[in-house]
Amino acid sequence: MDVTPLLDSLNEPQRQAVSADSGNLLVLAGAGSGKTRVLVYRIAWLLQVAQVPQWGILAVTFTNKAAREMRGRIEEMLGTPVGGMWVGTFHGLTHRFLRAHWQDAKLPQHFQIMDADDQFRSIKRTLKAMQLDESRWPPRQVQGFINKQKDEGLRPSHLDPAGDFYMEKMVEVYREYESARIQAGLLDFADLLLSSLELLRERPDILHHYQQRFRHILVDEFQDTNAIQYAWLRLLSGNNDNLFAVGDDDQSIYGWRGARVENIQSFQQDYPNTRTVRLEQNYRSTGNILAAANALIANNPTRLGKNLWTDDSDGEPIRRYTAFNEVEESRFVVERIRGFVQNEGYRRDECAILYRTTAQSRLFEESLMQAGIPYRVYGGLRFFERAEIRDALAYLRLVSNPDDDAAFERVVNTPTRGIGERTLEMVRQQSRESRVSLWRAAEDLIRTSALGPRASGAVRRFLDLILEQRRIDAELDLAETVNRLIQATGLPDFYLKSKDGKGQDRIENLEQLVDTVARFEQDLDPEEGDILGAFLAHAALEAGETQADAYEDSVQLMTLHSAKGLEFPIVFLVGLEEGLFPHSLSAEDPERLEEERRLCYVGMTRAMQQLFVTHAENRRLYGREDYPAPSRFLRELPPDLVEEVRAAGVARRHPAPAAKMAGKAGAAAAGGYQLGQHVRHPKFGEGVVLSSEGSGTNARIQVNFREVGAKWLVLAYARLEPA
Ligand code: ATP
Ligand code: MG
Repeated sequence: MDVTPLLDSLNEPQRQAVSADSGNLLVLAGAGSGKTRVLVYRIAWLLQVAQVPQWGILAVTFTNKAAREMRGRIEEMLGTPVGGMWVGTFHGLTHRFLRAHWQDAKLPQHFQIMDADDQFRSIKRTLKAMQLDESRWPPRQVQGFINKQKDEGLRPSHLDPAGDFYMEKMVEVYREYESARIQAGLLDFADLLLSSLELLRERPDILHHYQQRFRHILVDEFQDTNAIQYAWLRLLSGNNDNLFAVGDDDQSIYGWRGARVENIQSFQQDYPNTRTVRLEQNYRSTGNILAAANALIANNPTRLGKNLWTDDSDGEPIRRYTAFNEVEESRFVVERIRGFVQNEGYRRDECAILYRTTAQSRLFEESLMQAGIPYRVYGGLRFFERAEIRDALAYLRLVSNPDDDAAFERVVNTPTRGIGERTLEMVRQQSRESRVSLWRAAEDLIRTSALGPRASGAVRRFLDLILEQRRIDAELDLAETVNRLIQATGLPDFYLKSKDGKGQDRIENLEQLVDTVARFEQDLDPEEGDILGAFLAHAALEAGETQADAYEDSVQLMTLHSAKGLEFPIVFLVGLEEGLFPHSLSAEDPERLEEERRLCYVGMTRAMQQLFVTHAENRRLYGREDYPAPSRFLRELPPDLVEEVRAAGVARRHPAPAAKMAGKAGAAAAGGYQLGQHVRHPKFGEGVVLSSEGSGTNARIQVNFREVGAKWLVLAYARLEPA
């Protein structure tokens, strides 16, 4: 077979990695040096040249999006579908594994995945059942504790509180949470990994099967694997010496979630015959961007150390902008993006705005909205996380598995159907006492006439609604089932009547859900028997990344964490202020500060052609006003690579006189308000003035409310006040 075309577009060390013979291989290299490219080419090489069958390959990536892209690239290169390959995230792959082995893992056939929100609610229920006070046992903290144990492979029985009262209680809550979870037939995210690891450990026959099957295991972003993920990889690879991992210690940004960059060193120790390949040429960024990023990361004392160089020209300097406040920062960025798109021929999706915390996205969204520029937020409130979608999915989950307590709680009285808190409390108590699911407890209460006739009738109707859909389920395709179910639940009417002004949007989202289901059905892997189960898993696993809408060319907004592995011609790295970035929680702790710096390095190295770094001298965030100092990371950039810029026509250090700034933050709107000003409305809550029109009694003002979105209000009646 002629391999030249495959290897032609690689440099020498890349080529060596791609075409290496058997044995473990670690590619350790900086950002943009082609690690992901090497991984993709390696798979293509294995399939095409080494004649490895598709089902012999397991590849782990960090996001579902990356997995899809990887599959697409390979299919493009080889000109044939590669559906038999296992490519996905740790969660996705372990889920697939457990679905195949539900009996061995002692799981119900239709087990569902509970996401972080379900988990949080379930913990709250557990605390309540145990009569523990939430102020002393904050549910978030308990959630963090439980997930941390699971990520380290520890079940309640492994924990020894050793007389420590606090630990004793925590372990007790953990145990109770687990038994409720198991009874409801649910797995949380951490369970996916832990349960499959346990199964592989307990069942040598199954382990052996997979060790035989996966002759090649490939891992991208290896620096961000945690202990249990690494254990899972080790187990699967056994003594096969078939691990191919690529990573960059300088981009380890998930230490706070238990990722262990030491896995890179462990790898070399655990597999002494590992070959390490280093890549030093960066193909992504201009010379200036690369030099600035290299200078920044050099401030981290604990690094494995490596060089990166580029053939590319120096390019533009890094542009630094000091904004008067956060509103002006967002206007500056949006103005620049408009310029790139209108005057320099860039597509909108070639421009990215990267920020440290999700709370920062709102102002950029407002400015983009006002400028009429389409945008897309990754990691905001994602499609599958919207309330109406979660409601509809909860109904579906009950159809799939009536014992799913999280789903039961969510929709038993949504829309309101006369099942009161008192009735629910009886159901919960019955469930606790006889250790059955809420569904069964409800059935018991009806059967024994323990509920009053009205409550009993209301609960019966709810149960029947679900049972009816279970019957339909068998006869129709899934999209039609979902459509009927949505109508039968009464959710559309309920949203229309609700007073939050979002009814229509919500209904459109529900319609979109039906479309999504239809698309999903079309692309379904023929191996999957249980379509509904597969769809629900898809919804739970993808919740973290995708929005079902917005295929339009749009400006990309995301946190630095979710920008990992991506690249954009133009990058705006915003909010470079002490307290925000580095985050105030991390500034004091040297280890966490290093992680913040790596995060900044990740952000800078996303940029291909131009990088802007911005900060505001005055910022209101989380309702507080601050005068933050510029981030130390700005000081760490070599001054000769950085150029200070000013916004065209805007005085830099002082707010410009309002009248001259039509359309700019601070410009006068009607009624003495200013564009960009924060206001409060007795019903809609807090918002920001977007625009205004008319005057006197006709004056109308447009406000983007945090809770309910943009609204036009007649100023004379609006009862607005400055926030
Ligand atoms: P990160 O650490 O950010 O994940 P990476 O090391 O995975 O980066 P890639 O995303 O694989 O880097 O590659 C960066 C860019 O460089 C991509 O656009 C890729 O196509 C390009 N590239 C990599 N190697 C080569 C090469 N040999 N010739 C031309 N372009 C290359
Ligand atoms: Mg990569």
